[in-house]
Parts: sequence; C-alpha cells; structure tokens
Amino acid sequence: MVISGKELSAELKARMAAQVATFPKRYGRVPHLVVILVGEDPASQSYVKGKAKACEVVGIRNTTLLRPASITQEELLGMIDQLNRDEGVDGILVQLPLPEHIDENRIIAAIAREKDVDGFHPLNVAALWMKQPCTVACTPLGIIRMLDKAGVEIAGKRAVVIGRSQIVGLPTAKLLLDRNATVTICHSKTSNLAEITRQADILVVAIGRPRFVTEDMVSPGAVVIDVGVNRDPDTGKLCGDVDFEAIAPKAAVITPVPGGVGPMTITCLMENTISCFIARMTR
Ligand code: NAP
Repeated sequence: MVISGKELSAELKARMAAQVATFPKRYGRVPHLVVILVGEDPASQSYVKGKAKACEVVGIRNTTLLRPASITQEELLGMIDQLNRDEGVDGILVQLPLPEHIDENRIIAAIAREKDVDGFHPLNVAALWMKQPCTVACTPLGIIRMLDKAGVEIAGKRAVVIGRSQIVGLPTAKLLLDRNATVTICHSKTSNLAEITRQADILVVAIGRPRFVTEDMVSPGAVVIDVGVNRDPDTGKLCGDVDFEAIAPKAAVITPVPGGVGPMTITCLMENTISCFIARMTR
C-alpha cells in the first residue's frame, strides 16, 4: 500500500477550508499567516510558494515578506517583534535556512510562542518532551497523520527513526514514543545500521541521502516512511532516502517521494495556523 500524501492532503485541506469558511461569522476574520523569506534560495522559494498556495486553498490569509540575504539579524528581530505585537497576525514562519550571519536559534526563539506555527520555539519543543499541549512541528505531525490514515497500529510496535534532527528525527521519535511504540533513533555514528532497521515494524527515514535505504535493510511487511527530499544524481529528478522501487513490493505500507510526506508537511502547517488562530481568538 502506497500512502499518497497528496491525496490525504487534498482531503484534509478541503475539510479545513470548510472550517475556515465559518470563521468570519464566528470570529470576524480568517487566520493570517506571515512567512518571511530571506534571500533567494530556489528550494526555499519553492517551499514558500507551496505554503502560499495551500493558504489559498484553505482560505487562510497569507503574507509573504521577502528580504535580501544582506538583512541584519537586528533588522530581522525587529520585523518579528512587530509581527508578534500585531493582533492581526496569527502565525509567523521564518523560512529556514537563514544566511550564515544570522543565528537561527535566536530568530526562532524571538517568535511569540503562540504564533510559532512551525513548532520550533524552545517552549514548544520543551512542551512536546514534557507531554504538555503544544504546537508540534509540521513534518512529524504529518507523518503521524499518514500512519493513522493508513490504519497503522503504532502501540507496541518497534519503530526505528534514522536521523536525529531537531525538526524531523527527534520530534518524530517522541511522537511515536507517545503513541507507545518502542523507539530506536539511529544516526551517522550508528553501528550495524541495517541490523537495527531490519527489526523495524515502522521505519522512518530522514537523512537527506538519495536512496540510502536499500531493500536488504527492510524486513518484509514493514511500514516505511520516507522523509528525504533529494535530487537523484543520475536523473536530476526528486527522490527520497529510500529505494522505493525495490522496497515497495516488500513493505506493507510505504510513502512515495514526491507526493508523500512533503505535501503533508504543508498541510500540517495549515492545521497549526488554524490551531494558533483559534487559541488566540478564544483565550
Ligand atoms: P539533517 O538535519 O541534515 O539531519 C540528517 C540526519 O541524518 C542526522 O541526524 C544525521 O546524523 C543522519 N545521517 C546522515 N547520514 C547518515 C548515515 N549515513 N546513516 C545514518 N544516519 C545518517 O536533515 P533533516 O532536516 O532532518 O532532513 C532530512 C531529510 O528530510 C532531508 O532530505 C530533507 O530535505 C528532508 N526533509 C523533508 C521534509 C518534508 O516535508 N518532506 C521536511 C524536512 C526535511 P548525525 O546527527 O549523526 O549527523
């Protein structure tokens, strides 16, 4: 079974659009997401475009603020401060990565927690690890939504997450743990990686290396979630971290790239924006 993130996203966005359509009557307006894009990185430009398009579909107001790569950290902090204080702004997203002269952690921490739709703010991260209400990072949330949609039983299963980044690997592992999986986190220093991945009932791969996970690393009937977004060095086309063609016949459930986790990340950003909006409107 191939879980189409594209199809699930369309379904969820249609549901959210119907919900947002009721907001002007109930709250006097629709949610407003502000995205800040610094510089001209083509991948970032394309992600920001995708976010704006999803906002349009769902009916969320979107403002994209473009700034040159030469912007100073102080200027960026000043922008965030203004947006934090703007009652008409519900979500603030600073597209990463930022130019090297800007401290990403400082920028993320400067965003008001209640407007942190990415779920990267230290207080949101801490709340996740303390099992407190919080905004969960979009990609890990999207992964859980896909597993649920596919009817994958998580409790009691062995989950292996390859990758320990703050934005994907770690929060995904925590969400799986909270759903009572037995979780192993692997990384670049893991010995005998294939031996560990072969034990996985659920394998989540977030490394950033084209087709790194080969058929011999996956046991029959496993659920395989491919987070990677890479360019195939031979064809130049988008591909994941998993050798999809070789593993799909063996896996019980697998996600494609493109059209898998990627669209779900953006859809969960819409979900987080709506949640932040409702929380602010009802506080
Ligand atoms: P990252 O911060 O670079 O982290 C990569 C992780 O992979 C690190 O923990 C690293 O281990 C581990 N790793 C690298 N080489 C490895 C190896 N040979 N064996 C085992 N582990 C290895 O990347 P990220 O931000 O988590 O993103 C991972 C991938 O997901 C990228 O392709 C990215 O484009 C994609 N992504 C997709 C979405 C989406 O919406 N679809 C969202 C975010 C990211 P160490 O910690 O030891 O260095």
